Amino acid sequence: PARRLEVFTESVIREMTRLSNRHGSINLAQGFPDFDPPTELIDALATAIRGPHHQYAVTWGAPRFRQALAKKNERFMGREIDPDRHLVVTCGSTEAMMAAMMTACDPGDKVIVFSPFYENYAADAILSGAVPVHVPLYAPHFTFDRDELSRAFATGVKAIVICNPANPSGKVFTREELLFIAGLAEEHDAFVLMDEVYEHIVYAPHQHTYFATLPGMWERTLSCGSLSKTYSITGWRLGHIIAPERLISRARKVHDFLTVGAAAPLQEAAVTALEFPDSYYTELQREYDVKRDVFLDYLKQTGLSYTEPQGAYYTLLDISSLGFKTDTEAAEWMTREVGVTGVPGSSFFREPEHRFIRFHFAKKEETLRAAGEKLVSGL
Ligand code: GLN
Repeated sequence: PARRLEVFTESVIREMTRLSNRHGSINLAQGFPDFDPPTELIDALATAIRGPHHQYAVTWGAPRFRQALAKKNERFMGREIDPDRHLVVTCGSTEAMMAAMMTACDPGDKVIVFSPFYENYAADAILSGAVPVHVPLYAPHFTFDRDELSRAFATGVKAIVICNPANPSGKVFTREELLFIAGLAEEHDAFVLMDEVYEHIVYAPHQHTYFATLPGMWERTLSCGSLSKTYSITGWRLGHIIAPERLISRARKVHDFLTVGAAAPLQEAAVTALEFPDSYYTELQREYDVKRDVFLDYLKQTGLSYTEPQGAYYTLLDISSLGFKTDTEAAEWMTREVGVTGVPGSSFFREPEHRFIRFHFAKKEETLRAAGEKLVSGL
């Protein structure tokens, strides 16, 4: 078998889900909701499934879905997006990021990946033959050192990956930080691969800035997004890349040969979500504000320290005082003895960092309370 497969392990996130299922623990590891998407969306799917959508959709995305996606993104990004030239629909942002990486990088090219990072990015780089160059984000606020980042760019990188809002750190990059990165991307003629799946989950007073809208950045940015988190439909596997025509025409080739296309009836049904009014997004945010407060309040009661997310729905709990040799050992113990599963933080860091367990809080309030009570009494 290929040697590149020896360079990374299976996803620890998905492995923890399997472990949680075996032990019947509350799964706060893999980030997905345990509540249903909006009823209108479920109804739309029931209708779509009875319609004539059982064969391949257009490879780039069903026309109606692409149009709705372009409109929705125009609304939030505030720039014109042509559904025929600036967009490709993918099987989740997972495929979008892989296709973006393969669009930007040739084998041997270097790509900057911040650490901590969502574990897919390193695998995406390796599968594309690209070489990740890691730049640390320093806890507790996950800021980067500007000189360190400049030096990484100066090694001759082809691209940088940015998850904003970030998984697992919960960092929302400030406009200033993004402008600094934009300057480096321009100077070194690098592509910017954005993972913006948590664009609508941002806690006040923090604000999301779409990288592609910064001066001069549209031309070099591949913006990856997804319907998974925004509409609570991670199983529908609907994502996309938005970029200028010169990049999308290439990304479409990668996508075509990787997957041909996303599921046709699901694209039809999801048009309904893309047409939700602004109040939907305000309400989603309000719900996540509550979830965050409820869960963090329990973590506070454990007496351990944890990161306060600015966006997305993850927190890193510092378990160094519990006396385990590794975070993996701690996560396994917690699954067995406390009944709550998180992800060992080390799987997100390049550096040997064993202080953290990552929990997500995209769960019903009752699930968060049940998990919280177990953590308070068990830790
Ligand atoms: N993004 C989610 C997480 O980090 C889950 C992603 C996945 O498993 N595809 O847990």
